[in-house]
Amino acid sequence: MNIDNNLLSKHRYVPAKIMSNFEDTVKSRKINPEIIVIHYTAGASKESSLKELIQYHEVCAHVLIGKDGEIIQMVPFNIRANHAGQSIYRGKKNVNYFSIGIELDNWGELFPLKDTSDNLVLNTWSGQKFTGSHYDHIDKNGNKTYWEKFTIKQLKSCFLLCEELRKIYNIKDIVGHNDISPSRKVDPGKAFPMIELKQYVFNSKIPNFLVPDKNNIKSEESKPISKPISKPISTPIKQEPKISEEEFKSVIEEKESNMLTKIIMYLFNFILNLVHKH
Ligand SMILES: [Zn+2]
Repeated sequence: MNIDNNLLSKHRYVPAKIMSNFEDTVKSRKINPEIIVIHYTAGASKESSLKELIQYHEVCAHVLIGKDGEIIQMVPFNIRANHAGQSIYRGKKNVNYFSIGIELDNWGELFPLKDTSDNLVLNTWSGQKFTGSHYDHIDKNGNKTYWEKFTIKQLKSCFLLCEELRKIYNIKDIVGHNDISPSRKVDPGKAFPMIELKQYVFNSKIPNFLVPDKNNIKSEESKPISKPISKPISTPIKQEPKISEEEFKSVIEEKESNMLTKIIMYLFNFILNLVHKH
């Protein structure tokens, strides 16, 4: 992932529209980001949320991450995007002035239908029946809430992006919208692995849900060992396929028995010749 001139290179950039009566000059909208704020869109899809987000620069985040892992940028990282609204971080008000906002395509909280069937039916806030994967959260009072799960691809993109942003902008902290506007907001919600994200970005600790990818790489690497034919192309020296001790012994024994057969045959022919001559 590369950030060039405050924009992600090789990523879709769909600039948020700036309203004609927007009074700020471009210069006054410049920021020096110190923290990252994570949000969910509470929308139906990446494309529908993108349409909404870019409509007004006044209510937009810097990037939107889809369930497929695509990162779409809408505002350059050094320009203020108005994603946080009324907010406070460690006594500093107006978090938009010193933060980067990341939106994740996700419905957020889901609501169980009160019907007589035993099957759990979940609805989105807009009343749509929810059919995707959900995360169940039980609080300390035993109350259960339901949230749409974020996809692994989505989280992977989010984690990698935050890591890159930390390097370039010297990001000191990552928070949820709920941390800076607690009375108004709940996003990114209980399904978002905030602790893991911070551990990854600030302590280089790889979370468990990213480990399967590593295992895949390992199993790919282990293939040439079990199948010597599929050796990596970069291996410069031709290596003999490894064989077991048993196989090695049997080869030696075979060679030895071949040698013995040759000696016997030689002696047999020698005797036969002698017999012929006499
Ligand atoms: Zn939010």
